[in-house]
Amino acid sequence: MPSVIANHWCIDQENLALMLDYDGTLTPIVENPADAFISVEWVEILRLLARHSKIRLAIVSGRSVSQLLEFMQPLKNENILFCGLHGGEIYDIRSKKFLQSPENACNLNSLIRFKDSLLCILKETKLLQQGIVIEDKNYSLALHYRNAEQPIKQAAIGLFEKKFQSSPELIESFKLQPGKEVLEILPKSFDKGQCVNFLYQFWEKTNSVYPVYVGDDLTDEFAFQVVNQLKGLSICIGKSLDETEARCTFTSSYELFEALEGMLY
Ligand SMILES: [Mg+2]
Repeated sequence: MPSVIANHWCIDQENLALMLDYDGTLTPIVENPADAFISVEWVEILRLLARHSKIRLAIVSGRSVSQLLEFMQPLKNENILFCGLHGGEIYDIRSKKFLQSPENACNLNSLIRFKDSLLCILKETKLLQQGIVIEDKNYSLALHYRNAEQPIKQAAIGLFEKKFQSSPELIESFKLQPGKEVLEILPKSFDKGQCVNFLYQFWEKTNSVYPVYVGDDLTDEFAFQVVNQLKGLSICIGKSLDETEARCTFTSSYELFEALEGMLY
C-alpha cells in the first residue's frame, strides 16, 4: 500500500522519529475530555510501530503523562515516549523515568492562588453549571468550553483572560495558550516545538532520524515549524494547506491510520 510517510523516509539510511498528537489525531474529539480512550485498532498499530526496529515513537499531548498512561493502558510496556503538558513532562515507559519533568519550570503557588480564586468566581457566576469545565493538570490549568453556548463561552473566556492579565506574578512564568475549544495557562517554556527539539536530539544521540510530526490543533503549529526547520515531514489533520504551517494535510485520523498501515505492510 502506498504511504506519504514511507515516500519521504529513507528506511535504509535513517530511523523514523514518529511524533503523534493524541486528541483529534489518534482519537476523535469527544464531548467530555475524560472519555477520550483510544480504540483497539489504534492500540494494535501503535504496538507494531513501537516494536519496529527502525521507528522511534512518541505521543505528544497537552494532557498530563498520567492521563495519557490511563488512556493508553494496553501500551504501558511498549517502547514509547509519553510527552505530556506540551512536552513539559516526558516519560520513558521502558526505563520508568522522566526525561523531562516540570517541577522547576514555574512558580506553582501563583497558579494555585489563581485557580482557587477563579473557581470561586465561576461558582458565583454559575458558569460551571453551563458547560464550562476547569481541568487542573497540576502545572497547568485549562478552561474547556466545548459544551457551552456562545454567550457562556464568551463570558468564561473573558473572565479567564482578564483574571490572568491582572496577575503579574502569574504572567511572569506562565502564558495563555489557546487550543481547540480550550484556553490554557501553561508555563512559558512548555510548547510542542520545544518538545520536538528535545525528542529529535534525544534520538539523534544514537542514530540519525527522520522526524515526522502529526497533529490537528493550534498548539501543534509550534511542532510543525520545528519539524519543517529540521527538514522533516509535518502533517496536519483536518485543515487545508493555507490554514497551517504543516507541509502536508490529511482529511481525517483514518487517513493517518492508512498511511501508517501502508508503511508497515
Ligand atoms: Mg490534538
